[in-house]
Amino acid sequence: MRFARRFSSPADQEVAAFLAAMLAFGRVELFGAVLERLFAAAEGQPAAFVARGDFRALRGLYYRWHPTEDIVDLCGLAGQVARAGGFERMFLGRDTAERLTRAIDQLRASAPPRPSFRRFLPSPRDGSAMKRWCLFLRWMVRTEAPDLGLWQSFSPAHLVIPLDTHVFRISRLLGLVSRATPGWSAAVELTAALAKLHPADPLRYDFALAHLGISGECRGRRDEGICPACPVREICVHGR
Ligand code: SF4
Repeated sequence: MRFARRFSSPADQEVAAFLAAMLAFGRVELFGAVLERLFAAAEGQPAAFVARGDFRALRGLYYRWHPTEDIVDLCGLAGQVARAGGFERMFLGRDTAERLTRAIDQLRASAPPRPSFRRFLPSPRDGSAMKRWCLFLRWMVRTEAPDLGLWQSFSPAHLVIPLDTHVFRISRLLGLVSRATPGWSAAVELTAALAKLHPADPLRYDFALAHLGISGECRGRRDEGICPACPVREICVHGR
């Protein structure tokens, strides 16, 4: 999110947020370095960069299993969507699963068939938790900082939590998720549990859950030295 916030125009913010979300996996310092190089190549104008389609400046840039061609094609895909009016109009539908499934189907239709590239385009239909896409939607829809609140057609009440292994682990400990695997069903189950506490904005607890999961502070049981100061004690069976 820090990358998208560097830019002032909504078009630049949307493109920057999309690229940052798609590469947001693994260690933050590693994907952060890749994004620094990508945005340096874009020379402060990511929307114009992806629209232009000249990606020679990305030569040699890769991340994990994504070779340079994947990053070039990801920028090309962002340019294609931007030329068609942006991402928001792709996310129409009754619920988030439907919105995501339709958008991914559209993108898959014109995306390169390379298996490494297809990893950018999972689907709820395949059981994926859609963590990076839910992160992108969160940044576009929620209005509270650091989220950008650029889209008006999507209510924060309909977002699904970006579920990674840390959030999944802590949510299981808290009794908020019963599913054994961190897929789409678990993300929806956790979001529904959080919506009982705050129906209009269930993702307000996302950062606290992620921090708790990453820090490893939670012992999964009542600890008088930790629980009284825990940021999610109100939603935890051990914290109340
Ligand atoms: S209140 Fe205690 S048990 Fe519950 S999540 Fe926080 S640290 Fe973990």
